[in-house]
Amino acid sequence: MEKIQMKTPLVEMDGDEMTRIIWQSIKEILINPYIDLKTEYYDLGLKNRDETNDQVTVDSALATKKYGVAVKCATITPNAQRVEEYNLKQMWKSPNGTIRAILDGTVFRTPLIVSSVKPYVKPWTKPISIARHAYGDIYKNVEMRVPGAGKAELVFTGEDGQVVKETIFDFKGPGVIMGMHNIDKSIASFARACFNYALDQKMDLWFATKDTISKKYDHRFKDIFQEIFDDEYQEKFADAQIEYFYSLIDDIVARIMRSEGGIIWACKNYDGDVMSDMVASAFGSLAMMTSVLVSPDGYFEYEAAHGTVTRHYYQHLEGKETSTNSMATLFAWTGALKKRGELDGIAELTAFGEKLEKAALQTIEEGVMTKDLAILSDLKEKKAVNTIDFLKEVNTRLAAML
Ligand code: NAD
Repeated sequence: MEKIQMKTPLVEMDGDEMTRIIWQSIKEILINPYIDLKTEYYDLGLKNRDETNDQVTVDSALATKKYGVAVKCATITPNAQRVEEYNLKQMWKSPNGTIRAILDGTVFRTPLIVSSVKPYVKPWTKPISIARHAYGDIYKNVEMRVPGAGKAELVFTGEDGQVVKETIFDFKGPGVIMGMHNIDKSIASFARACFNYALDQKMDLWFATKDTISKKYDHRFKDIFQEIFDDEYQEKFADAQIEYFYSLIDDIVARIMRSEGGIIWACKNYDGDVMSDMVASAFGSLAMMTSVLVSPDGYFEYEAAHGTVTRHYYQHLEGKETSTNSMATLFAWTGALKKRGELDGIAELTAFGEKLEKAALQTIEEGVMTKDLAILSDLKEKKAVNTIDFLKEVNTRLAAML
């Protein structure tokens, strides 16, 4: 069989630990035999980020703007312990934060549903997609430890020199303060991305903030969504027979738990971070979740939503067998290949991505799965396999389809 040819390279962002090993194996076992893979490679492994003073992360984001589609492996966000472990020059920022700040946009996360694993939340029979705003708030914050008594103020100096001031707190002793921001333009593109995605998927869209407490900040999000909905989307939603629904975040959480799913849940940046892990876990595993960043300028970054699975990596280093679930990383690759096929008009590439996804889901539905799923599945005939054997099992089914 001739290999599928690509036109434009994918921006390949390699990462860390167990997911770095999975990354390599996916390419070797499931992609290279079938595709003449074209990528522009950026090594976002922590060692190389440190060596390049994190320039590689910025370069990879800029390359995404150049080519349009990126695929990213999970990466370590260093903390104090990692600074020691890797002997880092400094505690580099989260690569995801850096990339999202450059690309802006919305991260859509959707669980992968398989018949052999039932969700923990009984009524959830359809997927719940999380649409996470990928710009600003706590991820672009400035924070300080307050050493002792004193006054903390919020000060805005306009370009015209006008100064607006608010007291944050009169400290009587030590404490902490934080400043964060968002931009109307980014919130508006978040809103449009969510409305468009809801129309595309024909799913209801729910949005929640805490506007009763945050009467200016969160309220601005609520107002922008409502204005854009009323002006641009109301009729389209009515035609598609779908609904836009806003409520307080605590109310939405309660409703989500009782719903059957089939909803897109739009979340502010931090809420989306937390809630997508909750939703993914409830559907079985952090690895049973796809994730894509869609920028308002039409760039796409496909990634796994989970971390680098450190515990398994240390086992691997000790020479022990691992059973790490590669689904999210695999779906990052298929998502990127399908999108590249679509943009470059290469139907075989898109079809290949679809078949690979089907083969992977079929493998799990036939009872062949990694341990994280095997302990949840109530299938009578199931086989827990190691990291590499899972990929080989997928390949057997893929080869049969091709
Ligand atoms: P993690 O997602 O690696 O692991 C959390 C838990 O889920 C662990 O119990 C792990 O065993 C399990 N798990 C996650 N993915 C799994 C998979 N594919 N198969 C089987 N089990 C899986 O998160 P963590 O332990 O909090 O963080 C580890 C490292 O990952 C940290 O250095 C962190 O900075 C980084 N991280 C990166 C990203 C990203 O790049 N997208 C996201 C989160 C964390």
